Amino acid sequence: MKPDYPPRKYRFVVDSMLGRMAKWLRILGWDTVYLPLKNQDEIRSFVASGRIIITRALRWCHMDGVVCIKANSIGDQLKELFSILGLKYDPEDFLARCARCNLELKECPREQVHGKVPEYVWHTIDEFFICPGCSKIYWSGSHVFRMNDHLRNWLGINRT
Ligand SMILES: [Zn+2]
Repeated sequence: MKPDYPPRKYRFVVDSMLGRMAKWLRILGWDTVYLPLKNQDEIRSFVASGRIIITRALRWCHMDGVVCIKANSIGDQLKELFSILGLKYDPEDFLARCARCNLELKECPREQVHGKVPEYVWHTIDEFFICPGCSKIYWSGSHVFRMNDHLRNWLGINRT
């Protein structure tokens, strides 16, 4: 069930009930559509467009291009997906994508974020990124270190 292209080119559709999975796949840089899947035709058309379907719904597990996740905690779910697909995560892609909108982030000049991020962040951080969809501003701060702790615990991934 593994496609031929390199893992960083994977694109996903994540079914409802796996919202945290969708968020984390986006954080790790993968193009991830998140929506409640309705029927087999919809799944077939997503698969034909080159996306892998991730779901908990047993009734779709037999279909081509579908990965069924059985684990319950987000850490175990990611571990399960990584092992089924042989996924490798590319540190270059970390935080390249908005966790809410799935759009790729753009660099944002420091002057433009003044007043939109906490004052201490503005004074201590040099590089900011913005989502072209929802305008959420991203930067590498303590929350990113916490994310790295999670990834290290779940997947043995270490960015540094
Ligand atoms: Zn966004």
